[in-house]
Amino acid sequence: MTNAAKARPCPICRKPRTQEFTPFCSSHCRDRDLAQWFNDGYALPGEAARPEDIAQED
Ligand SMILES: [Zn+2]
Repeated sequence: MTNAAKARPCPICRKPRTQEFTPFCSSHCRDRDLAQWFNDGYALPGEAARPEDIAQED
């Protein structure tokens, strides 16, 4: 195995990544990736019905 051959760029902006923020190049790109992750989570439909709303059948 060679050590330097696997250097991959920042997945967000394709700049060389830094050791501090690996696998990203900067805190900016790291935050952007996190934001994308959260947006994906919010986009998921599901758990829309609240138990209080359906349990009121008398
Ligand atoms: Zn970047």
